Amino acid sequence: MHYCIVGAGLVGALTAKILVDEGINPSQIAIHETSHLLMPAWRNSDFGSYQALAGFHGFEMPRCEETVSLLSSLCTSSILHSYPTKRFLNIGSFIVPYSSPLDQWPADLSDGLSHDLERFSNPDSVIVNPSSYLFSHILNCFRRYNEDLKDAFPLFYPWFFPREYSFDPNSQDEGHRYQQQIRDLKLTPYYLSPSSFPQLADELFSALLQLGVSVHTGSNGLRLLEDESKSKILWTTNAYPLLNSVGKVVDGSTRYLSSFLFSIDKPPFINQSTFSEILVVNSRAPWLYRVSAASNIYNQFQLLAECISLTEEEPQVDSIHMVLKQIFPDYHFGYMGKTLPRQVKRFSDTDLRLMSAALEEITAANPRLIVAGPSWGPLNMAKAAPLARSVVDSCKS
Ligand SMILES: Cc1cc2nc3c(=O)[nH]c(=O)nc-3n(C[C@H](O)[C@H](O)[C@H](O)COP(=O)(O)OP(=O)(O)OC[C@H]3O[C@@H](n4cnc5c(N)ncnc54)[C@H](O)[C@@H]3O)c2cc1C
Repeated sequence: MHYCIVGAGLVGALTAKILVDEGINPSQIAIHETSHLLMPAWRNSDFGSYQALAGFHGFEMPRCEETVSLLSSLCTSSILHSYPTKRFLNIGSFIVPYSSPLDQWPADLSDGLSHDLERFSNPDSVIVNPSSYLFSHILNCFRRYNEDLKDAFPLFYPWFFPREYSFDPNSQDEGHRYQQQIRDLKLTPYYLSPSSFPQLADELFSALLQLGVSVHTGSNGLRLLEDESKSKILWTTNAYPLLNSVGKVVDGSTRYLSSFLFSIDKPPFINQSTFSEILVVNSRAPWLYRVSAASNIYNQFQLLAECISLTEEEPQVDSIHMVLKQIFPDYHFGYMGKTLPRQVKRFSDTDLRLMSAALEEITAANPRLIVAGPSWGPLNMAKAAPLARSVVDSCKS
């Protein structure tokens, strides 16, 4: 049996490694990558004349153990460094730690919230009170995620809420359960990061090549579906092109991702502590969703502002600068540049259900095809190793 892995991303690379660990001869494993770049998410982007990672934050621990352990077994020379996860919220003009309880929130921010607490146990039945400070910002910002508040609300809830508002404890999503343990102070989170992600990507693929796995760049996985061979096709990337190829398109809506780089005159601190990221809902810059330092842990004199906007043109440097000045009033910032906007699709819950059903039909009609996920966009790296393992398990069954 031959195995054609579609996608030279982290999931594809780990799928190859697990197949080899399971005793498959590496010469029977080929990775097919449509672009000429391996591991695109780990490569630097152009910010005008500068180069940096566009929004990437390292391995969230302790939830990436399996991913990190598989990687470490391949990339022996890249050392992963550890640093604490310190996440803050910026809501309008306030900054609060991500896991603060209601009584530690400033009164203006928490006003009216405790009395509404019960209503938020079920996001489907949320009635937003537009006169509260928190909700006035949410109402100005939610469209960066979805047209419909109901579909966007789970992305705010409970990220921008005090600790008392919890993620669904029975959630199927490992990420939600993990975040809840952090908010309950049951886990001490930290990040792991290599000194260089591009170098880690190079090491990863040269280790796979040395094992005997072949890698074909410029090879579109959709073509494999048409050939006559009997090899298994392991689809480890976004499943949307599969729907497209059989005319089962679900339109969704389009958003644009872009990142802005700023220089800063001293290493950034909040409340006397270094921070890893600030999650933002601020009416002055409704498309600005995160300000981070962690991806620049080796260059403490830069900050990254990540945006999701409705149009290619939307983010304005002056508005981002204003928010940064609100957060760090004693600092001086210099704008360094931005990435070109990258299109991403956003889907409602109904769209996602339709797409999953269509994908099931496609895989039922083609027994050679195994799809990881399904994934419809970038995923947290904690999910990479379990996804790769589930692909390999499906090959066996
Ligand atoms: C800007 C950005 C920020 C991120 N920030 C974080 C973060 O903070 N924390 C975190 O944990 N994760 C983050 N991620 C996600 C993380 O980088 C990825 O989930 C991870 O690298 C795993 O990649 P992947 O294998 O899912 O997909 P990718 O790295 O996207 O790889 C999929 C590959 O499949 C290829 N491909 C697509 N279609 C075809 C086809 N038809 N035929 C052949 N090949 C095809 C693509 O070209 C690509 O190389 C971020 C990702 C991006 C892009």
